[in-house]
Amino acid sequence: MRRGFLATSKAKERIDKAVSDSNTPVLPKFTELSHGVVPEAGVPKDYKPDFDHEYNEFSADTLNYPKKVAVYTSIPARGCNDKPSDIPGGWAECFIPGELKRELYSTPGFPRVPLAPTGGKAYCIKELEEPGRNDLGLFATRLIHAGDLVVDERPMLVVSGGSNVPLPESIASYMAEQLRQVTTLEQLKQVIFHGWGTLVKTAFDRMADEYKEEFMALANSHEHDGSDEIVGRIRTNGIQALDGAGSAVCKDISRVNHSCGPNTSFSWHTESFSVQLIAVRDIPPNTEITISYCNKLAPASERATTLAPYEISSCICTDTGLSCFDPARSKIGDARRAKFAQDIIALTPPFEKPPPGTPKDAWVQPALRRFRELEEEGLEGTEYYQKTAHQLMNVYTFLQDMEKTLFYAGKLKGVYKFYEKKELDMMYFNEEEIRESPMWTMGNLHKMGAPVFVSFAPLE
Ligand SMILES: [Zn+2]
Repeated sequence: MRRGFLATSKAKERIDKAVSDSNTPVLPKFTELSHGVVPEAGVPKDYKPDFDHEYNEFSADTLNYPKKVAVYTSIPARGCNDKPSDIPGGWAECFIPGELKRELYSTPGFPRVPLAPTGGKAYCIKELEEPGRNDLGLFATRLIHAGDLVVDERPMLVVSGGSNVPLPESIASYMAEQLRQVTTLEQLKQVIFHGWGTLVKTAFDRMADEYKEEFMALANSHEHDGSDEIVGRIRTNGIQALDGAGSAVCKDISRVNHSCGPNTSFSWHTESFSVQLIAVRDIPPNTEITISYCNKLAPASERATTLAPYEISSCICTDTGLSCFDPARSKIGDARRAKFAQDIIALTPPFEKPPPGTPKDAWVQPALRRFRELEEEGLEGTEYYQKTAHQLMNVYTFLQDMEKTLFYAGKLKGVYKFYEKKELDMMYFNEEEIRESPMWTMGNLHKMGAPVFVSFAPLE
């Protein structure tokens, strides 16, 4: 089937490989697969892998793949003898659906070179100083400001599927073929590991030697569940990529440790085929740089479930010194998270003159408390923080308090950059422009005792 398709001699320099199959069953998500110590790890004793699928070689320039074909490809395309340093930003070895490859290359400017952080590299990789944690981490080597790009990194390996990601059809169908040989759910999971391992091994084999070394030096928290050493490392170190359809294993970003209240947020960028880390609060020198491996707004028990496959059984993510899963600690954290999602704080300045001695921002207290709680939970990288900072910036402009207006604009800066993918407008930091803003003018009327109908709801 399709043998020889586009494998012309002039394409010899840059070759992709594709694997195809035709069934389409539904398989469990990777998150539902085993972790920890699985006594019956490995495929069943008399299991015979059914390698019925076909491999074909294609020119690396090929984009027009038939349906249900998965392709091994380097992005950007590279010559057989290229070293990572020959290509700006390096390349990623990929195992992805052929149709996705076509989509990627239709992205304007794809694949542009990843961005260099302003001021150069701002971190080093070193051993953690905490007792009992024999691991590496990323540490700031200078002050990193909220909103700064920490790193924009093209991964070493990008594969469809992975932690929290369903397997693509072409791979799932291959694995389903094997299912006739199993009788228990655990056996099915073991066969999926085996098939997945067989398929990603080809991508691994295509990697440059220096990338292979870096990849194998990464942690593996899946040594006893039947995942092989490549699948185990993808499950341990993979970051969500391809807009949620795949996992990316990076040389540096995959070494960033977890926090439920992380100081950076990561995002996938198709046009550069890279993962970006943006600081969501100021990171002082020598502070560990962290990301969240789970939904940081989820209750503690749900976070614990997501983190278990990473062998994270307790994390101390706030200044309280208590584990995030400590019952007393998680009770407070869970209640706060539920409130952040449900209670939207709308503020209205009082119509009547408050009794003497009342602070002029007494009516702002609920939003100030919300803001403090978000910071105590380390949730600066959330839309709730963005909305509350924005709300408070507006309120203090209305109250004509320049110092606090600038303070909340500064707090908004980092998370704004992450979500809006651009800098917060400089007018929010310009005293003259703030004084000329409609909100400030409205504050004048309020100050003079005129009734002002204004409500400060967090922006949608
Ligand atoms: Zn935690």
